[in-house]
Amino acid sequence: MESNIYLSYVIGERTWKIHLIEDNFYLRSVLWPFTWAPYTPFSALNQCPVCLLDPNKFFVSPFCRCGIYSYKKDFLEKRFNVKDTSSGLIMGDICLWGKVVEHKYGYRGQYGYPKKLYGFFCTVCHNFINPDSSFIVGASYEGSADYFPFCFSCENKYYSLFTGDVTLQIFNGGGVMRSLCESYGIEETL
Ligand SMILES: [Zn+2]
Ligand SMILES: [Zn+2]
Repeated sequence: MESNIYLSYVIGERTWKIHLIEDNFYLRSVLWPFTWAPYTPFSALNQCPVCLLDPNKFFVSPFCRCGIYSYKKDFLEKRFNVKDTSSGLIMGDICLWGKVVEHKYGYRGQYGYPKKLYGFFCTVCHNFINPDSSFIVGASYEGSADYFPFCFSCENKYYSLFTGDVTLQIFNGGGVMRSLCESYGIEETL
């Protein structure tokens, strides 16, 4: 049995990596090597084991695990034991639409676009920090790199994370947040 219910978008929250390409910051998927393009809905791929065998099962099969993943609102801040998997990332709200499946703690959506960005998880202590009490450090690598947020308490620890012959670049957290919001045309919370 298939039922179609038409609703507005669903708002969840999730994290992204912070990626720099030729002096512009971008949001990047955490587990997949995908950069999210500004002003373009991000589409889920049919790549779970079920859909790889049969693309017709994309979101239709109860065993499909495809989708843009998000937590339900306020979940990340409340559930402190997710900190360990959320370090070095930027957190925000995401709109999900198309096919959206609800799970106990979150959603999987077919299409998504960031709605709001509001803080970082420190790379060292994993605490949630607001943008103005943080800074972003990156080690540039062939013009493209992931960049990592640090809180001021962990300021003296970031040197230990970047070893070898790299050039460190340091940005103000609030500045990176504003630049991302402007690039993606989304709300600022500063
Ligand atoms: Zn699937
Ligand atoms: Zn810290």
